Amino acid sequence: MFHRLGLALIVCAAVLAAPALAATYEYLENTPPLLERLTPEVVATAFPGATRVELVDDGGPPAAAAYIGENLAGYLFSALDISPTPGYSGVPFDIVAGVDLAGNVTGSIILFHRDPHVEHNVISEFSAGATISARIMNAAIAQGARIVLRFRNGAMDVTEPTIDAVTYRQMNDQELIDAGAVTRIVVTNTDLEAILADAGMSGRELEIAPRNAPVYVDFRFGLGTVLTIGGNGAGLSNYESFHSSFPEGSQAIVFGSTGTYNFQGHKFQNRANDYRLERVRVLQGDNSYEFTRDTYIRDASSPGRSVRLGTFNGLAVLPPDSGFDPFAPWTAELYAYVKNADGSLEPVLIASGEYQLPPQYVLMPQPEPLPAWMQSWHDDREAVFILGGALIVLTLILTFQAAISRSGQVHRMVRTGFLIFTLVWLGWIAGGQLSILHLLNYLQAPFQNFDWTFYLAEPLIVILTVYTAISLVLIGRGVFCGWLCPFGALQELLAQISRALRLPQWNPSESIQKRLWMGKYISLAAVVGLTFAWPSAGAAAVEVEPFQTAITSYFQRGAPYLLYAGALLTVGLFTERAFCRFLCPLGGAFALLDRLHLLNLLKRRPECGSPCQLCARSCPVRAIEKSGKIKTAECFQCLDCQVEYFDDERCPPLVTARKSRERAARGPQTVFAYTPSRGGAAS
Ligand code: SF4
Ligand code: SF4
Repeated sequence: MFHRLGLALIVCAAVLAAPALAATYEYLENTPPLLERLTPEVVATAFPGATRVELVDDGGPPAAAAYIGENLAGYLFSALDISPTPGYSGVPFDIVAGVDLAGNVTGSIILFHRDPHVEHNVISEFSAGATISARIMNAAIAQGARIVLRFRNGAMDVTEPTIDAVTYRQMNDQELIDAGAVTRIVVTNTDLEAILADAGMSGRELEIAPRNAPVYVDFRFGLGTVLTIGGNGAGLSNYESFHSSFPEGSQAIVFGSTGTYNFQGHKFQNRANDYRLERVRVLQGDNSYEFTRDTYIRDASSPGRSVRLGTFNGLAVLPPDSGFDPFAPWTAELYAYVKNADGSLEPVLIASGEYQLPPQYVLMPQPEPLPAWMQSWHDDREAVFILGGALIVLTLILTFQAAISRSGQVHRMVRTGFLIFTLVWLGWIAGGQLSILHLLNYLQAPFQNFDWTFYLAEPLIVILTVYTAISLVLIGRGVFCGWLCPFGALQELLAQISRALRLPQWNPSESIQKRLWMGKYISLAAVVGLTFAWPSAGAAAVEVEPFQTAITSYFQRGAPYLLYAGALLTVGLFTERAFCRFLCPLGGAFALLDRLHLLNLLKRRPECGSPCQLCARSCPVRAIEKSGKIKTAECFQCLDCQVEYFDDERCPPLVTARKSRERAARGPQTVFAYTPSRGGAAS
């Protein structure tokens, strides 16, 4: 009857409240323009230091430019404007966030949400139990930042390996060489003699004869398409000429040299030489590339005195259809010329060097971030493993409960040990406290944009929900409430201490208890009804659960919350699990659903209830009726009654049987008497 009444209360509350749900969408339908939302307080939080914001009207994703002084420092955007994302409650939220030009999120502030477990409007203030919302909102901010920047700074976001033609860092020739960005080959006069000897040209006169200086040529080259290499090697204005004068996809080789011999010569300006840059060429695979005046940008800013790569510098350009692969190795060759007897010139290779572009000059595509729910499973894999192990242990405990219950000591160790694990690790360390909020979100799902991925975003809660649902159908409410609820465990462990200290214990009479049991159904109906009808009141109503105070916030909350949680725990010292039995909305929901359970693993005897009341009086939560029947909706599967059931020192039928055996062994004499462990004598 109580189940039916509780269910009716919830349905009535939800039906009456449904029209008010529409009010939730008021903000979404009348969202103010972005600039109106960027109040000084919002800007100060989302982009600290910004002195001015200005709407960007460039046809891209909506954003406002944030300036510090006169300099553009980044952008402000609204996650709702960029890509409306439903929160954990299923209703889209609005967050304004800032991103600087390097892609760092500068701050964020929540302007609108309907997630009852988000208390305040700044993400950093999330409670530990609101990790699903935090993850979804953080993912929306990261995605918004990427979209806003991708449009305005395409180079930051590439889809394939791309030569970095946008990043510029000032570097001198030695720094470029040290970084591997430029290859250097030095040919001394002595080297030159050896080279000529090897080529069978010893003693032949060179077109450019060595001088007294020991270095004939100090030759440098690199991939000039890279802004840092080409811009430093040949000058930024020449680099700009390369980009403006040659088709997209062209590649540039930057050459430089110092010494007696320069790589450039002057004949590339002569028609008689076909304008060929005849001293250098590039080889890659089977391809050989040579350059002419038309494909060469000479660094003419200070001819002969440049200090970029050398005293002579320039960019030699390869057209897009040249087949040159800037990512693959290539070779640069430098030729000198010897004079023949007839006055003609004959080339001789005097320097040849390999080049491979270092990876730091290649922009790589950013891997697409994992969806929020996958990321959370990846991040929490250790906790998932521990919880999985714990649930296997619990399943074994429940399966072999008869064996465990045969020894009061083993039972006490197993039960206390598991409750400590549930409280300390599951509750306080891992934040795995199932709450009425989770149930509310499942209830609200049909009314909102259902997206199952949001329900997967908190791995421990997902696992606990699935395990609890299965155990509810199989065994009943007691598996979760008796073993997996951290607040329930806290109450029970405190009750154990209370009994050890011999504090007085009080339990209501059966008739009063039945009325008090209704409290949890009323509490459930109120929370469900208010959440649908009046979300902000619903957010307050869920505080009937002290879980956030005692478990996820580690008692780090305001005085009213602490007083409330403290009062519940204090009452629990004298009446075991008073909150669970009489007030907990989640316990009420599970008690309602408990009627689905298929199995009853708790053993009973014909004598249970008539005449024996030992288990009924031993049950710490008085879940055994006078008839001997266990009311599973109120049972916490603590197995205390099973310890009594197997105790041949206390369970009357077993005592009788044992004494009969002993009498038979000793001869005809017996006395029958026993004393129940808690709460007085059994009949
Ligand atoms: S009744 Fe509530 S507090 Fe008690 S164990 Fe169940 S869910 Fe936890
Ligand atoms: S003692 Fe009570 S709560 Fe514990 S298992 Fe038995 S009936 Fe359930």
